[in-house]
Amino acid sequence: MSCATAHTLFDDYSNATMEFFEATDRLSVLLGQHEEFAEAKKQSDQKHTKCLIARRALEQHWEEHGCRAREGKTPDSR
Ligand SMILES: [Zn+2]
Repeated sequence: MSCATAHTLFDDYSNATMEFFEATDRLSVLLGQHEEFAEAKKQSDQKHTKCLIARRALEQHWEEHGCRAREGKTPDSR
């Protein structure tokens, strides 16, 4: 990826995705523990939102700047 801004946005998105996956893992561990689960669910939802926002920022930049690398993949398009 040649564009520095896209690279930064991509890193942000990768990190947000990772945090969301970690929060989801934590959620599955806490199944059945109601209070902690509720708190973990809230955090997981927040991470998800953050993830979506980071993704939108990246895609918007790609669109506006036209710098999306041909081999460029979003972290969740595995
Ligand atoms: Zn760019």
